[in-house]
Amino acid sequence: MRTDDLHSGVGSVAGAGKSVHDPQAIVVGSGFGGLATAVRLGAKGYRVTVLERLDRPGGRARVLKQDGFTFDAGPTIITGPDLLKELWELAGKRFEDHIDLRLLNPFYYVRFEDGSAFRYSGDTEAMRAEVSRFNPRDVTNYDRFMERCRVAYERGYIKLGNRSYDSILEMVRFIPDIFAMRGHRSVYSVVSEMFEDPRLRKVFSLHPLLIGGNPLKTTAVYILINYLEKAHGVHFPMGGTGALIKGLVDLVEGAGNRVRYNAEVSEICVKDGRATGVRLAGGEVLSAELVVSNADSAWTYKYLATDKRRARWTDSKLDRAQYSNGLFLWYFGTDKRYEDVPHHMIMLGDRYRGLLHDIFDRKVLSPDFSLYLHRPTATDRSLAPDGCDTFYALVPVPNLDGDTNWAERAEDFRKSVEQYLSATVLPNLAQHVVTSSMMTPIDFQSDYLSYKGAGFGMEPILLQSAGFRPRNKSEHIDRLYLVGASTHPGAGIPGVLTSARVLDSVMPHAHAIA
Ligand SMILES: Cc1cc2nc3c(=O)[nH]c(=O)nc-3n(C[C@H](O)[C@H](O)[C@H](O)COP(=O)(O)OP(=O)(O)OC[C@H]3O[C@@H](n4cnc5c(N)ncnc54)[C@H](O)[C@@H]3O)c2cc1C
Repeated sequence: MRTDDLHSGVGSVAGAGKSVHDPQAIVVGSGFGGLATAVRLGAKGYRVTVLERLDRPGGRARVLKQDGFTFDAGPTIITGPDLLKELWELAGKRFEDHIDLRLLNPFYYVRFEDGSAFRYSGDTEAMRAEVSRFNPRDVTNYDRFMERCRVAYERGYIKLGNRSYDSILEMVRFIPDIFAMRGHRSVYSVVSEMFEDPRLRKVFSLHPLLIGGNPLKTTAVYILINYLEKAHGVHFPMGGTGALIKGLVDLVEGAGNRVRYNAEVSEICVKDGRATGVRLAGGEVLSAELVVSNADSAWTYKYLATDKRRARWTDSKLDRAQYSNGLFLWYFGTDKRYEDVPHHMIMLGDRYRGLLHDIFDRKVLSPDFSLYLHRPTATDRSLAPDGCDTFYALVPVPNLDGDTNWAERAEDFRKSVEQYLSATVLPNLAQHVVTSSMMTPIDFQSDYLSYKGAGFGMEPILLQSAGFRPRNKSEHIDRLYLVGASTHPGAGIPGVLTSARVLDSVMPHAHAIA
């Protein structure tokens, strides 16, 4: 196929070091996974066009600016920086020349309803002291637990996460690893077995919530996150997470490739079982030698690559799959600084198991909640006008499988979040809010085309992990690849960057298909 077809369709893409004769690749979506893939495809010799339906890059990591305040819409806890550095290296650049990444210490605070707070960090002695403050008998349990987390990291993250899967049968080989990691059990059950103190059980089991998993059901493989954070730190880029997205776009464009906005893909074109390009919502058809979808995998198979002969990810299988929770987000700026509030704080309400049950199983919006409060201006004052603070509050809520009427309930829910924050860590908040906006699961569906409005794609349960998850090389369609949170290995920036890395290992070099 002549790639000039696409070339004429999207204007000039051939830039530095690119020739119009290089094979063309299309990436659908500019999330972390899509941009990382575009960098890798560029390094493999393709001319790359990223097609993004929104007016800006980043997907869940896009930047919202309002009244002088800068809000990172999504990810804020940055770990696994080596995965980012690798992308800069692939593009022949030094990460440190472009991004000012600061290590946070502590990583975050976990606050309980009685006002006490656990300072979570990667420092072993400081963590032992914190654990001891809550329950001295749990100090040795902490050491044993972190050793288990290390095993999960080595086997789950390094060994199982960093490879592609060609068949479900391959998973049989990894059964001993899964048992060694207690992967057949949940994070919460493994943590509860190890810690005596009920508060510490919450502190050490809440991590799956960072990637849309219910600690009561998420495979214990995910205790690897505790070790990932300890080994690689929790960081924040000056300028916000948006600085990373901008940096990645610069890498893509600096290699002569292109990111095109307001370009919604309505169909991945398939001929004789092979992806040949895409059709945009406006009707324009763009041809390519290969297509990578960074769109939600369920959405990709249900609505974009709809070949009804697909054997594995059929519509009914996608409907039966389990999806991560929804998210309610309130972005707000204040006309004063709340100096006592740390950069990252997880605020746990009294109910833990019951609340998780409401969100994930009963799928009802409870009047009580737990939330994550982000105050990036604790680290970077440039994200708000002088003397002001930028915040967001993130509340896990049911996805759209529940029947919450968000159009009616969002404002009342926001007010209850505001009252709760005002009564706890942000006194007189209502009087100081000067800018405000919200996102509900409805927006996740309409903005990111996330199936069921899920915050993080498919839920990370054992039977939807590794070889059981939608693969990076499509099972159904030749030259179609998938990347991002709802593919292998899963959500979170380390997950989606690993997804791009695994994809790299199965995508042909441009010379091989030129
Ligand atoms: C509020 C929130 C907080 C989070 N916090 C953290 C955190 O602190 N740390 C962490 O590591 N992770 C965090 N995560 C998870 C992390 O942000 C995501 O897992 C990750 O950013 C998802 O990246 P992705 O590559 O899967 O793509 P996405 O960000 O989902 O982007 C996909 C893109 O594809 C576009 N698209 C979809 N369909 C089409 C189409 N048909 N045509 C064109 N474009 C299309 C969408 O518009 C979107 O831009 C958070 C997530 C959320 C929502």
